[in-house]
Amino acid sequence: MNLHEYQAKNLFRKFDIPTTNGKLLTHPSQLDDILRKLGGDRWVIKAQVHAGGRGKAGGVVLVDSKAEANEEVRRLLGSKLVTYQTTKEGQPVNSIYIEQPCDIIQQIYLAFIVDRTSQRIMIITSSEGGVEIEEVAQNHPNKILRNPINPVVGIMPAQCRQICDDLGLDKTLSAQMIDLMQKIYKMFVKNDLSLVEVNPLVVTKQGQLICLDGKVVVDNSALYRQPKINEIRDETQEDERELKAEKLDLNYVTLDGTIGCMVNGAGLAMATMDLIKTHGAEPANFLDVGGSVNEKRVIEAFEIILSDEKVKGILVNIFGGIVRCDIIASGIIAAAAKMEIKVPIVVRLEGTNAKEGLELIRNSDVSVYEEANLDKAAQKIIELSKGAN
Ligand code: GDP
Ligand code: MG
Repeated sequence: MNLHEYQAKNLFRKFDIPTTNGKLLTHPSQLDDILRKLGGDRWVIKAQVHAGGRGKAGGVVLVDSKAEANEEVRRLLGSKLVTYQTTKEGQPVNSIYIEQPCDIIQQIYLAFIVDRTSQRIMIITSSEGGVEIEEVAQNHPNKILRNPINPVVGIMPAQCRQICDDLGLDKTLSAQMIDLMQKIYKMFVKNDLSLVEVNPLVVTKQGQLICLDGKVVVDNSALYRQPKINEIRDETQEDERELKAEKLDLNYVTLDGTIGCMVNGAGLAMATMDLIKTHGAEPANFLDVGGSVNEKRVIEAFEIILSDEKVKGILVNIFGGIVRCDIIASGIIAAAAKMEIKVPIVVRLEGTNAKEGLELIRNSDVSVYEEANLDKAAQKIIELSKGAN
């Protein structure tokens, strides 16, 4: 689960992590009041969406007057912001964070991330932070520093000092940085986070280190014990189908291709997606219906797959271990009776009660193609999907 920048900054403040004090706007009528409360005559207008790259996409703007602030707020609010991290449609801008600008001397990149390879929380830093960080990573990878945290001892002051030296920070900034990194680590562990990215962490003219941006991701598997964080979830920023699937307890991820997949087991689902790619097409989704699947869940899975207009064919690939293939077959028959399915379906049923399942399908009036061989099943659905519209 992602937090908005303003939510991340609220969390930073709880842990005494220095950040900017802004105000949240959800309606243009609030602007005058917000600007008056913030004071000053220049402000930064920041669109709140679950995506980075806002600066380059016109989602973060510095304004010099109330009139300009008004113009930018009206332009952004209610629009969809397209950045290099969003889909073509973009993310809805339902709120805007407004803060006073600060005088920046240096932009540092600082991130804490769960690194699967080392199985550690990794601190990633760079003295060249800011909106070009991807370019720095690409062309000057030596400017990106990685320091794993040992989970037994936690973050160590000596390690923090080393990072400060590597970043070339002076004594006063180092003291602030060490304190800041320890606080972020504490926040990270306490809240079950999987990412904290501060880009930029700025050095101001006044010699202060301040988190100017904040991206926080909470581990979804831990949300059950983070009720406060769960409460501030903004579902308008999430993929509609993924949200629906999550509520139905289906493991579903939207992808870009045209072949819908209904599979049991994450490993088989990945293998199925690989196979579709091998044969020259792209999967429209990852979907693991799980082990405790029943007829109702098969129908729900079909509904989710079919609500995606990109889907031009569906490959059902089930290996019945705990799952009974006859139940899957009944589900397919019931789904076809309930919905108008216009796209071709290829079914491969293998394992427990496969024979009974195929028998059920043959005796019904649903039109699906059976294929026992997995390679051929993938080829078949790709071929058939080309004729679908
Ligand atoms: P992102 O593009 O989504 O990562 O949004 P950021 O919050 O990082 O803002 C993008 C860029 O806008 C930053 O890297 C800064 O260069 C600039 N920016 C943001 N806030 C301020 C500010 O208060 N003062 C100045 N001078 N620049 C700012
Ligand atoms: Mg940023």
